[in-house]
Amino acid sequence: MSNTLTTTAGAPVPSNNNSTTAGERGPIMLQDYQLIEKLAHQNRERIPERAVHAKGWGAYGTFTVTHDITRYTCASVFAEIGKKTELISRFSTVAGELGAADAERDVRGFSLKFYTDEGNWDMVGNNTPVFFVRDPYKFPDFIHTQKRHPRTHLRSGTAMWDFWSLSPESLHQVTILFSDRGCPRTPMNMNGYGSHTFSLWNTRGERYWVKFHFKTQQGHSFYTNAEAADVIANTRESYQEALYGGIDRGEFPKWTMFVQVMPEADAEKTPYNPFDLTKVWPHADYPLIEVGEFELNRNADNYFAEIENAAYSPSNVVPGIGFSPDRMLQARVFSYADAHRHRLGTHYEQLPVNAPRCPVSHYHRDGQMNHAGLQTGNADAYYEPNSFNGPAEVPAAQEPPLKISGDMARYDHRLGTEPGGANDDFNQPRALFQMFDNNQKARLFSNLAAAMDGIPDNIAERQLALFDQVHTDYGQGVRAALEQLA
Ligand code: NDP
Repeated sequence: MSNTLTTTAGAPVPSNNNSTTAGERGPIMLQDYQLIEKLAHQNRERIPERAVHAKGWGAYGTFTVTHDITRYTCASVFAEIGKKTELISRFSTVAGELGAADAERDVRGFSLKFYTDEGNWDMVGNNTPVFFVRDPYKFPDFIHTQKRHPRTHLRSGTAMWDFWSLSPESLHQVTILFSDRGCPRTPMNMNGYGSHTFSLWNTRGERYWVKFHFKTQQGHSFYTNAEAADVIANTRESYQEALYGGIDRGEFPKWTMFVQVMPEADAEKTPYNPFDLTKVWPHADYPLIEVGEFELNRNADNYFAEIENAAYSPSNVVPGIGFSPDRMLQARVFSYADAHRHRLGTHYEQLPVNAPRCPVSHYHRDGQMNHAGLQTGNADAYYEPNSFNGPAEVPAAQEPPLKISGDMARYDHRLGTEPGGANDDFNQPRALFQMFDNNQKARLFSNLAAAMDGIPDNIAERQLALFDQVHTDYGQGVRAALEQLA
């Protein structure tokens, strides 16, 4: 690259400081194209920020296989011990806008794009193993409660607690959000979870259900509400500083990857619905199996081009990895790619950060920003089937059939989720609550009380009744913390 300043069309720019005017004190000439181009570009520097997960931080890294799981999956990324695959990560908060403070209490996005030699595998997870809702019909409403009120343009505690108290399936995730893990100190101090149930399939055509876990090797570390307020008073960018700064100093964070594996037929037998995103699979039933580790070791050269433009979608799976009947996963398979087509444009997968490192050949044509042209390798092969040796389907990449039976209907996702029900919404939050020591419980109560302070009594009472059903100590603890604030 030369150090000659040029227009976007490559012509040398005679001045980058003085506009062309009619006389020294006269107006600017419309023909000053170099100036117009500069101003027009400034007007177009912002693209739509993500509607959720707008504020993010990321880096490149390397995944290394340490244990053999080829009995479960033929995915090339896991083909042999020692195999390395490049990846790019992006971590994020959910509700805050692009300029929001990093150290806010919120769920964190935890996304990994593995550039495998059979296509990109995107693991688009969170730092929590569960989510607030189990049916995607509720997702846009839930997100509206996390964003700004249409009249006040402020976040609304009333909206949040109204929704949560009317949605008991949220109790598990609410308990995690207001526990210590709801405000990690840095992106390096948290786990990642695929959260959904996915599937693995092997060369024999056998399918297994799977959960993905990525455990931090840096250890868990969190901010209390008071500590987070202090941090935010001094910097809004604490995560970017920690992640970028650490990698810049040669401190490369690592996570260990595990899977939980469930034989396909077990899904009929587990007391809880294994495709319910508000539930975990207890480790005692499905122990963690170690797979490998990844290290983040390279910062992006350009945040916008490589982190903002990074487009993760759960639809990006590779042979050997598949979906499951999880309703939330099925909706995300549609909506993430759709969001990127809106945010970045039809051909967002051609952007260098998203482009697979393996050959890409398909018949999608034309459209805005298609700079790769026809990706078939032959101008006559622009439809399929053809006689010009164009790309052809790969029957071997077909996943085994999914064994599903049942009548098509709108099944009530709340069936069996009452206390004592087959898919009880209360016993997993209870198991979590009972793991907390007294200090952790005290912080949970005060974090919840701070967030509930000032909401209407009827909404608070409805939520407290839900906490009571998890554990009487839970409801009482939050009540006492609320009274202390009164
Ligand atoms: P286990 O005792 O086998 O596992 C409990 C897990 O909870 C730990 O492995 C750890 O997961 C996680 N954990 C530990 N401390 C905290 C904390 N302060 N806040 C949040 N999570 C914590 O029990 P079960 O597998 O039967 O699960 C019991 C409960 O633990 C669940 O209801 C769920 O709330 C929570 N949990 C379970 C996970 C799972 O996949 N089974 C994953 C995460 C949480 P990790 O090692 O991933 O940090």
